[in-house]
Amino acid sequence: MDLKALIRDIPDFPKPGILFRDITTILNHAEGWRTLVDDLSDRCREYSPDYIVGIESRGFILGAPLAYTLGVGFVPVRKPGKLPAAVFSQDYELEYGRDRIEMHQDAFPPGSRILIVDDLIATGGTAAAAAQLVSQGQGNLVAYAFVVELVGLGGRSKLPAAPIITLLDY
Ligand code: 5GP
Repeated sequence: MDLKALIRDIPDFPKPGILFRDITTILNHAEGWRTLVDDLSDRCREYSPDYIVGIESRGFILGAPLAYTLGVGFVPVRKPGKLPAAVFSQDYELEYGRDRIEMHQDAFPPGSRILIVDDLIATGGTAAAAAQLVSQGQGNLVAYAFVVELVGLGGRSKLPAAPIITLLDY
């Protein structure tokens, strides 16, 4: 199953000059979706995570079946103001301005083995902020997993050190 062939390129989204890699065309392809979850699960299993931390919103879609398949808990990292209980917050830089993500303070016990998942790493800012949240919760970050890496943007150099799993490179 050629997963790269199922990714759709959308020019000038969300802004002029950006080539958006659209993964919804894997999600709605029954065989592609199963292959994606199976491949990602196989790659992540060796790190024996206790929890999958998924970043809103495409990290939820991937992280939920990943956690289910590995038999571990799922923890959502969300945009500000969405989580109901006490949260850790982390600000991070965007191309223009700043953003913030949050995670429940009691999402996992200190020392838990954590694997962070998102659909794509570009500049690395989002995943680096998620890693800071894991650190605030005294988690033991064992790996990151992404479906797509935009290699030319050098995002992996921004991430606090841990193994990085990627399925497709651009
Ligand atoms: P970064 O923080 O690494 O620059 O951006 C990664 C975040 O933006 C991820 O949460 C990802 O979902 C989203 N993102 C940025 N560019 C793309 C893209 O081309 N395709 C998809 N599917 N998501 C993107």
